[in-house]
Amino acid sequence: GAPSAALLDVRGVTMSFGGFNAMTDVSFSVASGTVMALIGPNGAGKSTTMNVLTALYQPSAGAVFFDGASLANAKTTKIAMLGISRTFQNLQVFGDLSVLDNVLAGMHHSIDKHANGRAMALLETVGLAAHAHQLARNLSYGQQRFLEVARALACNPMLLLLDEPAAGLRGADLAALKALILLIKEHGIAVVLIEHHMDVVMELSDSITVLNFGQVLARGSAAEIQANQAVQEAYLGA
Ligand code: ADP
Ligand code: MG
Repeated sequence: GAPSAALLDVRGVTMSFGGFNAMTDVSFSVASGTVMALIGPNGAGKSTTMNVLTALYQPSAGAVFFDGASLANAKTTKIAMLGISRTFQNLQVFGDLSVLDNVLAGMHHSIDKHANGRAMALLETVGLAAHAHQLARNLSYGQQRFLEVARALACNPMLLLLDEPAAGLRGADLAALKALILLIKEHGIAVVLIEHHMDVVMELSDSITVLNFGQVLARGSAAEIQANQAVQEAYLGA
């Protein structure tokens, strides 16, 4: 296909498990420094999309291009080195490690004499610096969500994938998460945001892709998606 200016370019991806297509001909692109929300009902294929973007799965058809190169031969263990990082829908914090060590674990190959300082700066950014030396399991649930974002940022990604980061967050935590995502975007990082909190999605997204039964149902700005009849019926309506 034609070259693209986008950092991430997903072209016609189908992901089959046995005979079942979790994704069918899914295409979208994300530019640096922008937030693209991936929304849709449970089972629509959102997390599967993130698993494809981190090379956990190889697409059955179609291709993913990141920073101009295909991910076809990428290994999921090397994906952070390419500049792609993620958080998980179900928290994957290392409870028996300190908060600081959780962030250091996210640095992979780039541990050097500056690592501790960089990790502390990230903890400062997410509001957890005072907890650096506690065991991660002693953090509140909301704090663990922020720790996961800090760990994902530790490898200096160009693309950050956030799978339901606001799940279970309320009030001040939700506001802090929005501010954090805006800060990440201001640093020029591209963000793919899976989220069910529509206020978060509508406030932060530069573009929205709606998945339904593994297919792209709609694509557009927040205003366009909110006005879309098919999206209202499949997902937003209530
Ligand atoms: P979402 O994140 O949008 O809620 P998922 O991407 O987790 O949805 O799942 C989409 C569909 O693909 C679901 O029906 C799910 O059961 C199925 N699925 C996801 N991963 C696998 C897998 N590894 N093997 C078989 N089916 C899967
Ligand atoms: Mg999911």
